[in-house]
Amino acid sequence: MDNYAIADQFSLLAKLMDIHGENSFRSKSYASAAYNIEQMTAPLSQTDRSLMADLKGIGASTAQKIVEILDTGRMKSLEDMISKTPAGVIAMLQVKGLGPKKISTIWKEMGIESIGELLYACQENRLLLYKGFGAKTQQNVREAIEFLLRHQDRFLYAELETLVQALNTQLESGWPGHRSEITGAFRRQCPEMDRIEFVTTIPLTDLETTLNKDGNDHFDRTDKDSLEWKREEQPRVVFHHTSASGFGTTLFRTSASPEFLIGWEKAGYAAPSTEDESVIFHQAGMITIPACLREAAGVIEQAHNGEVPALIVPEDIRGIIHTHSNWSDGSHTLEEMALGCIEKGYEYLVISDHSRAAQYAGGLSIERIHEQHAAIDALNRKLAPFRIFKSIECDILGDGSLDYPDDVLESFDLVIASVHSNLKMSEEKAMSRLLRAIEHPCTTILGHPTGRLLLSRPGYPVDHLQIIEACAKHGVAIEINAHPRRLDLDWTWIPAAMEKGVMLSIDPDAHAVEAFGDVKYGVLAAQKGGLKAEHNLSSFTLEDFNVWLEDRRATRYA
Ligand SMILES: [Zn+2]
Ligand SMILES: [Zn+2]
Repeated sequence: MDNYAIADQFSLLAKLMDIHGENSFRSKSYASAAYNIEQMTAPLSQTDRSLMADLKGIGASTAQKIVEILDTGRMKSLEDMISKTPAGVIAMLQVKGLGPKKISTIWKEMGIESIGELLYACQENRLLLYKGFGAKTQQNVREAIEFLLRHQDRFLYAELETLVQALNTQLESGWPGHRSEITGAFRRQCPEMDRIEFVTTIPLTDLETTLNKDGNDHFDRTDKDSLEWKREEQPRVVFHHTSASGFGTTLFRTSASPEFLIGWEKAGYAAPSTEDESVIFHQAGMITIPACLREAAGVIEQAHNGEVPALIVPEDIRGIIHTHSNWSDGSHTLEEMALGCIEKGYEYLVISDHSRAAQYAGGLSIERIHEQHAAIDALNRKLAPFRIFKSIECDILGDGSLDYPDDVLESFDLVIASVHSNLKMSEEKAMSRLLRAIEHPCTTILGHPTGRLLLSRPGYPVDHLQIIEACAKHGVAIEINAHPRRLDLDWTWIPAAMEKGVMLSIDPDAHAVEAFGDVKYGVLAAQKGGLKAEHNLSSFTLEDFNVWLEDRRATRYA
């Protein structure tokens, strides 16, 4: 092992000790040992061990550890420290501008254990509430994380959109007369994926020479008809070459999941060579199955029976449900949020600032709720017929109770109940919290039901079917949180919810006017689950939404 590798181990040990708030004298001595080892010209592996402790910046205890590393390749005290630290916290050391002290605050005080969670907290302005974190630091952390995440090999749908568009334009303008189309997981609108795929008639050698402008890119022929393009800090791009006359068939084969293709073959259907993909479905005696539904094989049988649903589209969203204003952790005033809705043609807005337990997010005291209601009443008079509904994103507390007394909860038009604290829990604990909240007569919508953050934090474990059944029984709608990092409820559970007659609600959870656009990602994910507009609360007209709320109040508060 060379000196640099040894120095790295001491450097990491010092940082982890600082994150854990251990003896700073010892951590400093390991940091300086790391520095000194890097400066040494002679390799430690060839240094006389009896003289090791006399080297500059190396004491007896460091010397002992160096010998341990040289003999075993490991350092036990470093391994112990690593095992006590969540992997996501260690990963934060890669974020430029974040030192051990700040990471310690993020982990121990903010309760954040991964980079993705930290990014989300920046977007919610949560860092500003802690000592040592100003707006500038928060912005730097955010940018550093965004940079870092671009290095990872999985990407959110929303992160790839711009690149896909740019490549599309490049292929179209660079090779007029040729045909190229997006395929694979992106065409299926998967919330996350590890590559971008195109079907193209452009010769692969042409693509390779043209795309490799600076000569630094890496290209692989995964098979004779596929070219994989790898660039630093960019997702992989795979090109599937095809003839013009077989374009539709290659598009069909590369768009669907393996399970779908196996099901297609098992059912005895063919995929004849054709220019036009829809011919394949036509010859099989069915309408074209939208690419987003080509996941499980069951949809083939449905299509055969003429049962493919008319999917919800972004234009079906009539109101913006689940938003935060600057009364809690949002960026805009109530009026700015309402005007943003009006400008985009939405009929109503549901303001749901954080409840009082969410102190980090400026949760509202009971007094502030009264003030906000008066402000909303005044705006509703001013902006009619547009309507702002009074809501709250009410924390589901540790025991499953809601964050205010019933008389306060009853003063809202609707209540969105969400878990924001103590996310690390067993399924038993999670279920008892959620079920108790669902049973509360004031709960209207269950917010981001599992708390997951895609590519960064798994949700707490839940029994989805039991939640869906409880929501059906108590008339509670389930949110499809449309933030591209949440998309929670996951689309795979939509069919079960629709079957039980549970309403779903595509909500942007917007902390600013610009975030209303996120409803699109909610719609794309919901399409995968076959959601129809009539099962989506935010597709209700103002009048229907109002009637739905009145009905619920009448039955549940009776
Ligand atoms: Zn929330
Ligand atoms: Zn929210």
